Amino acid sequence: MSQYKWEVGTVYATREEFKDTVTAYAVQRARAITFRKCDLQRVRAVCTGKCPFWLYAAKMKEEDSWQLRSMNLTHTCTQTHRVGILHSRWLGKAFKKKVESNPRVKIRELVSKAQKKWNLTVTKSMATRTKQIALDEIQGTFREQYKRIYDYAHELMRANPGTSVRLQVQRYPEVENEVASSQTSCCIFQRIYICLEAYAVVEAETKDSWTWFLSHLATDIGVEKMGRTTFMSDQQKVSNPKPNLTYVH
Ligand SMILES: [Zn+2]
Repeated sequence: MSQYKWEVGTVYATREEFKDTVTAYAVQRARAITFRKCDLQRVRAVCTGKCPFWLYAAKMKEEDSWQLRSMNLTHTCTQTHRVGILHSRWLGKAFKKKVESNPRVKIRELVSKAQKKWNLTVTKSMATRTKQIALDEIQGTFREQYKRIYDYAHELMRANPGTSVRLQVQRYPEVENEVASSQTSCCIFQRIYICLEAYAVVEAETKDSWTWFLSHLATDIGVEKMGRTTFMSDQQKVSNPKPNLTYVH
């Protein structure tokens, strides 16, 4: 990135890509760059104070891509190593991998990484915000991936007549009363039960998730058969429920 060369005419896939490139440049060069006139057609990035630096990009006609149209690369400002609001989103993305591999990463670790890697002074509160942004991004990715779980469940039942599929989701409390049609966008996957042969993916092995699994299994194969069944989980615990299955509803 330190070698990054701005050239008029360069095309960026999206507006975000252009903005991320500008922010990465701002971080690398320790310049306090902000975006002005940022709308659906154009973006102008300027430096603080009376610094003449600017970059101007516009959306290309009938395409999603954006193009750098004009610029002035002269800086008269002094470098700043403090992180601005602008940087926190970029930092969030930059820290995504680190937070993904360890969601409990210490704030002070992020602060020292920013210092070492980009020579940036990040306050504790900024690092906290950055970590939250990274977590939101990761959560968003998960949510995207599970959005289609209803489709998969229906497809499974369509392709395998007789299959029993039960999907359990968590609703956000604030959308508890939303109509059913918007169900898929406001739910978080919790667990799924599939009875091709009984198969379930649960969030954790708890009494609640076992009860849930066994009660669906009892519906599908009958309580009598279950009494003769041995259950083994991937945690290697083996249980042999009694025929009366007291904890199955
Ligand atoms: Zn400047």
